Amino acid sequence: MRKHYKLVILGGGTGGISTASRILSKKKDLKDDVLIIEPDDYHYFQPAWPLVGSGDEKLDSTWKPMKKVIPKGACWLQAAVKNVDPVKREVTADDTLISYDFLIVALGIELNYDAIKGARESLGHNSVCTNYLYNLVEYTYESLKNTKSGNIIVTKPEAKIKGGVSAENSLFTMDDFIKQQDRNVDIMFRSGREELFEVKKYNDSLISQMEEKHIDYKLNEELIEVKGKQKQAVFKNTHTGETHTIPFEMLVITPPMHGPSVLKKSGLLNQEGWVDVDKHTMMHKKYTTVFSLGDSSSLPTVKMGAAVRKQLPVLVDNLIERMNDQEPTHKYDGRTACPIATEYGELILAEFGYDRKPKETTFLNQADDKMIFYQFKKNMLPIMYWYALLKGKS
Ligand SMILES: Cc1cc2nc3c(=O)[nH]c(=O)nc-3n(C[C@H](O)[C@H](O)[C@H](O)COP(=O)(O)OP(=O)(O)OC[C@H]3O[C@@H](n4cnc5c(N)ncnc54)[C@H](O)[C@@H]3O)c2cc1C
Repeated sequence: MRKHYKLVILGGGTGGISTASRILSKKKDLKDDVLIIEPDDYHYFQPAWPLVGSGDEKLDSTWKPMKKVIPKGACWLQAAVKNVDPVKREVTADDTLISYDFLIVALGIELNYDAIKGARESLGHNSVCTNYLYNLVEYTYESLKNTKSGNIIVTKPEAKIKGGVSAENSLFTMDDFIKQQDRNVDIMFRSGREELFEVKKYNDSLISQMEEKHIDYKLNEELIEVKGKQKQAVFKNTHTGETHTIPFEMLVITPPMHGPSVLKKSGLLNQEGWVDVDKHTMMHKKYTTVFSLGDSSSLPTVKMGAAVRKQLPVLVDNLIERMNDQEPTHKYDGRTACPIATEYGELILAEFGYDRKPKETTFLNQADDKMIFYQFKKNMLPIMYWYALLKGKS
């Protein structure tokens, strides 16, 4: 295997595959000079997992073999990155050392179930669920169908997460399921955050949804322990430090998450553990041969595939400028989109940028839930993902 590539891309997820496709279509001379380093056999369309957990999508439709999504002209090293030396411009992946001229870091985000005492060993038993692990998403729907009484608790951590509103998606569709089945179940939402949503317009809309549906929701309540066998969840108030134990029949956990731990010694991360890039150009603040997009980057927006879609053209144009020894001139404005199902068939489509002001792309009021938005997320988004975004079209 070759030991040097003009461009090395770390991670074959949404950001890695879409940038490889786009740059190869724009810069033909890069053919066979782009290496993607990715250990997984499969590529996943993660945004569909909350729908699988609510029984409205099939798990099988959410993945493809990795080799089918690697674009023509790119090489694939199936290995896990262990370290990067941005001074020597070298990547260590398993036992292989590769050097590069330019590097894109798209390693995604790491799930940290271990931050919640008892969570890892409880998952998959006693209706302790999560929609963040492929192997467990179907268990969420199984548990929902089996829950006939008691509490369903849906949690969200204070820490930055990917799929920012997936907990709310599960919450509302499960509430709809329970009401349709007329079951004696109380639905609760516990979030470690200060507010439901960071953009006022959508925050107001979500508060109305919670109140109309009589959902018991509390903020600043972080899940800190799961007692699976006793079916109890322990929460800590992030302001007062007080703890509360709530019994559950079903628990749906969104775990805390953090940036790529394999890069801890690389000098590429900021103090919070994210790849330290300029928020507009996506070029590393210190190493001008390194770029990053998506969940592992320090870009201060909500970590979504929809954000990657907007970052993609900017990053690729800036990288091409750098390859031509020019300064990067293209700017990402923080645009992202958060689809929030409010019941089966209805969805709020929040769209905004760094200024936390709505930037809606339709003429409709997107803070009002609509059938057309739900259909878009369920039926159109997967097609756009597999056949446009992963092919490098933004
Ligand atoms: C439950 C859920 C719901 C979501 N809902 C939505 C939604 O409705 N809308 C939306 O837009 N987005 C949603 N997202 C978020 C979206 O999937 C991510 O933001 C997007 O995939 C980010 O792309 P990425 O390339 O940064 O990370 P990923 O797509 O996660 O890719 C990271 C890749 O890096 C690889 N990797 C990890 N470690 C290493 C290593 N050491 N060496 C090499 N490779 C490595 C991984 O295997 C993976 O393939 C959701 C995500 C989840 C989990």
